[in-house]
Amino acid sequence: MAQIEQDSRFIATHLGDDYEKYLGAVVPPVFMNSLHVFPNTQAYLNFDITDPEQYTYGRVANPTVRIVEQKIAALEKGAMALCFASGMAAATTAVLSVCKAGSHVICVKNIYGPMKNFLEQYCVQTLNMSVTFVKGDCIEDFEAAITDHTHMIILESPTSLVFTLQDLAAIAKLAKKHHITTYIDNTYCTPLYQNPLELGIDLVMHTTSKYLGGHSDLIGGVLVSNDHEFMQKKVSVMREFLGGISGPAEAWLVMRGIRSLEVRLPVHQQTALQVANFLEGHPLVERVYYPGLKSHPQYELAQRQQKGSCGLLSFELKTDPDTTRKFVDSLKLFKIGVSWGGFESLVSLPCYNSSEQTCSWLGCSRGIVRIHCGLEGAENLIEDLRQALEQIK
Ligand SMILES: *Cc1c(COP(=O)(O)O)cnc(C)c1O
Repeated sequence: MAQIEQDSRFIATHLGDDYEKYLGAVVPPVFMNSLHVFPNTQAYLNFDITDPEQYTYGRVANPTVRIVEQKIAALEKGAMALCFASGMAAATTAVLSVCKAGSHVICVKNIYGPMKNFLEQYCVQTLNMSVTFVKGDCIEDFEAAITDHTHMIILESPTSLVFTLQDLAAIAKLAKKHHITTYIDNTYCTPLYQNPLELGIDLVMHTTSKYLGGHSDLIGGVLVSNDHEFMQKKVSVMREFLGGISGPAEAWLVMRGIRSLEVRLPVHQQTALQVANFLEGHPLVERVYYPGLKSHPQYELAQRQQKGSCGLLSFELKTDPDTTRKFVDSLKLFKIGVSWGGFESLVSLPCYNSSEQTCSWLGCSRGIVRIHCGLEGAENLIEDLRQALEQIK
């Protein structure tokens, strides 16, 4: 039994489903209550916030949320997970749990946009922190940026527009030497395709709004770590201060999404690889950004570090941004939208309104197209792309 309990398929389908506790319900219920009452004052006075079996108030903990936290901690091979109302609630809580006024952080420059804005517009301006942005594809980038005040290294691998990777084991080793906390946004790979804690990273974040939820019907986030004490004393306390815990209904939806992650993700991957190969072979396509392609500049690292790639990729056409826009408007199956990780295929032009300066900093062109390959079938998606490319020939 010990072995099956570590099998991601068992964790996703059954871990934490305590039939005895929940009247034999095959699916644990949503605990839609804001508080738990005590039988007497002694029990109330004895309440132990560190005991995962005890509950008092919904901003502190909730049984449905805790089941999901158990599942995600086990999938990420971590000791403890905490769920949040959004990926950004998880990310900002992580920074505020690790850093203080005056802290210096090193962050990959292709980090998720709102996270970059949080660092620049809040941490720097209000907390007097400083940030060094690095490309992140070589260890020297990080080595050179470390100062006596560096408290955190913020990673996202691969990044979700140009899909640059960081060597997680090497960075973790360097950071440990300098007592710096390492953090990664692991949303792209999900716990099935990358386990950064095993490579020495301290803190893992996922937006459950993407693949973990998987059905574009919720917003949520999670932090996972092997350091139980840090999670208990810092992250959990900060979650209580900021009030960013996941709602129970969203947690329940995440739990449902996780059950089928193991069958959904390989389909997203397969589809994306077929689509990426089609695009790469098309005469109107300039460049495809996808870590699963042999042409990816860090393909070897992706093979070593990740168990797979998902359904999100970008590409550039051999034309100007306005013709690219016409191509996007000609797509029928791909819907125009910003998110990803759900059942549906999506397309966006993330840099269309950006300056040339911003684009060159990001390492792409204004016309870069990002697509999420959903579950509509590779041949159907390829046909849609083919007909839209015909329109701009
Ligand atoms: C969507 C996203 C986030 C933010 O998650 P929310 O749940 O929307 O707050 C963070 N990182 C990445 C890579 C994302 O795609």
